[in-house]
Amino acid sequence: MREQLELLWQLQAVEEQIRAIVRRRESIKADEVRQLWHEIQLLSQNIIADKEKLECQRRVCAALESDLTKLTRQLRLLEERLYKNSSGSVRELEQLRIKHESLQREIHDREEEVFRFLESCEQLADRIANQETALQDKKQRHGIGQRKIAEAIAALEGEERVLREQQKSLRCRIDPGLLATYQALNAKLAMPVAKVSQGVCSGCRRSIPTCQTRTRPGEIQFCDNCGRILFLK
Ligand SMILES: [Zn+2]
Repeated sequence: MREQLELLWQLQAVEEQIRAIVRRRESIKADEVRQLWHEIQLLSQNIIADKEKLECQRRVCAALESDLTKLTRQLRLLEERLYKNSSGSVRELEQLRIKHESLQREIHDREEEVFRFLESCEQLADRIANQETALQDKKQRHGIGQRKIAEAIAALEGEERVLREQQKSLRCRIDPGLLATYQALNAKLAMPVAKVSQGVCSGCRRSIPTCQTRTRPGEIQFCDNCGRILFLK
């Protein structure tokens, strides 16, 4: 019986270690990595949207610049007519001058518009560049995080496999009746085997009557207080 109880005591220790490994595996911080992945998705979408916006703004800008070139050409032609052709009537010249002024205003407004668009394109390009840097950084951190989690899980699984083997081999060596009693108790109590040292139950810290601490062959002793199987030294 003593040897059987020794095995049971070892089984309890192995099972406690297995529970600790399961708890450690569950507590692995995967949340941070998941959050990073979410941020990467969001940032990628923002970059795509900004790139489309930039493309669109550049097209508008090109169209404005092309208009500006046409207007400038018109202005030059008008100026040639104004200053080289002095044979026109006063009325005709006055009309040309009015047209010239209006064209100049239009060119000025269009130039302002092009300038605003160019500035906006530049800001957008800067924003895209910053977002791309942040994206690379997040991707790198995400990769490292994932690798760490995978390594930690693999290490714990390795430890668990060894312990499960020990558990199996111990269970095979323990008397089925004793094992059934242990398992039934384990369903209700944590650590159902208690050592008795200096007459005290290690499960509930109560004194065990001396008559109980004397080992009797083939008999299992239980703590009267907590009901644990007593492993007498
Ligand atoms: Zn007890």
